[in-house]
Amino acid sequence: MPPFPSSPQVAVSVLRNVRPWGTDPVDLHVADGHITRVTPHSPAEAAPSGSVPAPGEVDGRGLLALPGFVNAHAHVDKSWWGKPWVSYGGEATTQGRIAHEREHRDELGIPGVDVTVAVLREFLRHGTTAIRTHVDVDLGLGLRGIDVVRESLFVLGGAVDAEIVAFPQDGVLRRPGVLELLDAAATAGAEHIGGLDPASIDRDPVTQLDGLFEIAERRGVGVDVHLHDGGELGAFQIELMIERTIRAGLQGKVNVAHGFAVGQLPPTRMADLVEAMGDAGISMTTVAPIGATPLPLDLLRAHGVRVGLGTDGIRDLWAPYGTGDLLALTTRLSQLARFRHDEDIVRAARLATSDAAHFVGRPVHDLVEGARADVVLVDAENTMDAVVRAPGRALVVAGGQVVARDGEVLV
Ligand SMILES: [Zn+2]
Repeated sequence: MPPFPSSPQVAVSVLRNVRPWGTDPVDLHVADGHITRVTPHSPAEAAPSGSVPAPGEVDGRGLLALPGFVNAHAHVDKSWWGKPWVSYGGEATTQGRIAHEREHRDELGIPGVDVTVAVLREFLRHGTTAIRTHVDVDLGLGLRGIDVVRESLFVLGGAVDAEIVAFPQDGVLRRPGVLELLDAAATAGAEHIGGLDPASIDRDPVTQLDGLFEIAERRGVGVDVHLHDGGELGAFQIELMIERTIRAGLQGKVNVAHGFAVGQLPPTRMADLVEAMGDAGISMTTVAPIGATPLPLDLLRAHGVRVGLGTDGIRDLWAPYGTGDLLALTTRLSQLARFRHDEDIVRAARLATSDAAHFVGRPVHDLVEGARADVVLVDAENTMDAVVRAPGRALVVAGGQVVARDGEVLV
């Protein structure tokens, strides 16, 4: 198939002849960055061959169309993407990685607009158009990382739509002043405040979570806590979060990131905990880690616990891995979950796209009227084929603009 004709960034008025989720071909009509109508594709309406199509008319050539990918757990401020290789020199523990990052981030210009833009462009290249990103907030940086991320998003003209989690990577209680920084971040527009292993990092889960939930309730923001602690220690902290979510009326605004503990509990204990999470409207995000016990996706779905998929940091001072390709990560999630049936494989793709609307504050994120026009075209027979092969992204449209084409980022 010949490449799409090269041209600068195009504002799309109609994306013709695409197959949403593998259905029959349709035309997606776009105005003000949103899908306004979806109509059956009629070849007669397209420009006759040889003629020049109207500006804004893009021929989708019958390719499979998916909504833009949603990276529900990113760290776009942390990467050294685009810089010469950085060998990892820290210890393997969480504390060792924190210390290594703090020792070397300044010399790499982290956080910096150039590296953050480089990461966001990788996301766009792979069809990710919306993210929830944790941004380090600590006594050394203050809120500078959030300013860097906002500036980087602005540089890309809003192609990537983002929600920000003010993230206390170096702990909360053990660093007096961090709670005040989280409060300041929430006041300054961060959509969520984060936490980190309240038991093993701060060694006082009740007080850390009380502090976070008090700010969230007062400022009307969400809570998104990194929880690596496993087994009963992790489960206990999730119970503390459930209690505080209900008490503060924060149902639908609290997320457990990683939450390895959930997959590690005995069946009855697991079922009770997941049911309580569902009742409290608590969601989870996973990075589909290799080697960890997978989350019980069927059980979580049965109890209405939303699950989002994210890359975590890519190529950062924690680990060199990650490319920002959420479709490839969807392949991994589907494999780790041992999905074989078509409906399960499609569910994996939904989890990374339409079903992740919640994680980026959208009422709807799909190839339907009213949604932001975030569309990814891939040369695949159907959604299952796309998940299993993760082919290159032929065209990426974000907010109604063509932002990437055949692997070339245009913004
Ligand atoms: Zn993370």
